[in-house]
Parts: sequence; C-alpha cells; structure tokens
Amino acid sequence: MQVPLIDLKAQYSAIRDEIEAAIREVSESQYFVLGPKVEEFERRIAEYSGARHAIGVSSGTDALLVALMALDIGPGDEVITTPYTFFATAGTIARLGARPLFCDIDGPTFNLDPSAVADFLGAECERDGADLVNTRTGGRVRAILPVHLFGQMADMDALLEFAREYGLPIVEDAAQAIGAELGQGQRAGGLRDGRRAGSIGAIGCFSFFPTKNLGAFGDAGMCVSNDAALAERIRKLRVHGGHTKYLHDEVGGNFRLDALQAAVLLVKLDHLDRWTESRQANAVRYGQLIQAAGIEEFVTAPPARQGRHIFNQYVIRAQHRDDLRTWLAERGVSTEIYYPLALHEQACFANLGHAADDFPNARRAAAETLALPIYPELTAAQIEYVVASIAGFYRSRR
Ligand SMILES: *Cc1c(COP(=O)(O)O)cnc(C)c1O
Repeated sequence: MQVPLIDLKAQYSAIRDEIEAAIREVSESQYFVLGPKVEEFERRIAEYSGARHAIGVSSGTDALLVALMALDIGPGDEVITTPYTFFATAGTIARLGARPLFCDIDGPTFNLDPSAVADFLGAECERDGADLVNTRTGGRVRAILPVHLFGQMADMDALLEFAREYGLPIVEDAAQAIGAELGQGQRAGGLRDGRRAGSIGAIGCFSFFPTKNLGAFGDAGMCVSNDAALAERIRKLRVHGGHTKYLHDEVGGNFRLDALQAAVLLVKLDHLDRWTESRQANAVRYGQLIQAAGIEEFVTAPPARQGRHIFNQYVIRAQHRDDLRTWLAERGVSTEIYYPLALHEQACFANLGHAADDFPNARRAAAETLALPIYPELTAAQIEYVVASIAGFYRSRR
C-alpha cells in the first residue's frame, strides 16, 4: 500500500469543475492582480477568521514581513518568538534587521511556552522610558510573534496578559492554523471562547501555500487585523507604500495577491470546514489505533485537543525516529520531519550566539517528531496500515 504525506490530486479531482470554472472566469476577465476576486476573498477570510479587516498578500512569508513592517520593526529591535517553527517566522524578523528573541516551547503542544516568555520579560528586560530593553543585548523588545503550530492555538490567554503588561503587540503566525479556535481553558483576555486564529493579536498572518489546509495553486497569503489603522498601513505597504498611483508616502514592496489565486481559494474555502472535520476524524482514529496497538511507550500521540485543532499536521514523538522513518518509507508510507533543526541552531543565526541546549524542549522536539499523513482524503485502511507499520517497527526491535 502507498500512503503519501499529502494527496493534492485527490482533492483537485473532487472539485475540478468548480475550480476550472473559477479559473475560466478570471481568464475571461483578464483582471489578474488585486481587484474584485481578491476583495471578495478578503471579505470571506475576514469573516471566516473573525477579524474586521483582511489584506491579501503574496505569501505567508510576506504576510509576516509586511505585518512587522507595519509595526515599524527594524534595526535595534527584538521580537520574541519560538525557535521551533518554519523558518519564515524568524527569517522575516531578521530580514528587517531586527533580532529574533527565542523563548523555548512547551513540550506537549510544541508552541511558545508562556512561562519561558515570562521568565525572559521578568528577569532580562528593563524599562527605559517608553522602551523595553533587553539588558543582555541592549536591543528594544518590540513585539511577540507566537506560532499556532501544526494547527493548534498557542496559549494566547497568557501571551495577551504579557502583551498588555509590557505594551507589546502580538503578531500571530497563523500560517498553519486557519480556522483554529481557542477553547475551554484557553480564554483569551476574557473574550468568549471560540475566538479564531489571527483575530486575537494586533495582526494575524495566514499562508495559502499548497500544503496548508487552504492551499492555493502557487503562493498566496493574508494579513488580518481588528485595527483599522494597521490594516490601512498594510494595504499601503503592499503596493510600494503608496495610496495614490506613483505617489509614495513610504517604502513598501510588491506584496500583492493574484486574482487567479483568490478565485481558486474562494472555491476551496467552501470545502474547508468539511476537510477540517475529516482531518480531525483521522486524528481521533490515529489516537485510538496507537493506543490499541500498545505502542504508547514508544510513540506519543498529540495530546487531547483543546479548542479547535485543525490538524495541518499530525505530529507524533517517536523513539528511534529516524530508523522508524526509514522503515515506513520502505513500506510506502511517506512522513516528514517538522522540523529537523531548531532555528537557534541554524547556520544563518550563528551570530545570535546561542548554544545548542539553550532551548532544550525545541531541541528535543527536533530529534523526536514525525509527521504522519493526515490529509482529508486518507482512507481508514491507509490509517490502519500506517499504525500497523509503526507497530511492526517496534516489534522488530524487541
Ligand atoms: C508556511 C508557513 C509560513 C510561510 O508561508 P509561505 O506562504 O510558504 O511563505 C510561515 N510560518 C509558518 C509557521 C508556516 O508554516
């Protein structure tokens, strides 16, 4: 049996007619950049994520970049973030000349650990007038950038409290978390439960890279915000910093979204909740089968979910992870390691001067995690085959 990590052809074949009609409509209009399709998609994403404003951009990376630009993050500034995420989270901070200020993750969820953030803010920062200064580096701490990794919300309740206390805006990296929600016990700032990823901090950032739960036919992204002034600033930065053609208030970039991508994404958005439910059902099935196989001493399944986990990835911790991965590959099961090296150990961040064990939870996660196929079209037989293959691996080692 073959079990790919993701099967985009299966998704496409189920909605081919709708997609092709949408593409044809754009072809007939010959309106390719921004315009009515993009505006319609922005309205739909604002509504879907529970935010007032949405600004379509060229990728998830550019969403993060333009969000940080809108907060005037630059040289001399530091942004608190996680070392265990896709590269773009910290890469965009560094591209603006600012410093990624890593705090360790929480073991079970892989998300930024609020107590690590509290320790840093309490023990290593000092107020200097309006600035919050990192006493080790002299840099100004300017924002918090949590990631809702694998489709599960970070502890926004705790992070919002620090944000308020220290006057720091939060930029949510919701690239893997469109439609994820806080749940019971994750009450953001006294707001009702069910608040969605992206709508809680100052700015939320989505990616529509093809492997995300809502995937484009190429690159695409979105910023959302409840702050009208920030949204306006992002809109301007998206088109080279000018509201009026050829008049520029400031230097922005080309961060525009294409109409073709918006048209495809509008079609897919109508199917997203159904796909999410299938991913959640697949996750439940994996959990049951892992338990029934008696391999819990070797494999840790994701903890019971709080709120709405959208399972962009289903990530286990596994003993002898690399050998397991090879074993599964030999049996036709594709897996992936998100992520094999924590960001503080990346060559490009050597200048930050971290030791490998500065963030032990992130380091451990990089050595133990394995993403199993979780895409919506996965069959029950495939899930059974994956778990049986994992069980076979541990049996073979006894
Ligand atoms: C995918 C992703 C991004 C970047 O999105 P692109 O659209 O690929 O630029 C940023 N952060 C995280 C956590 C991601 O998973």
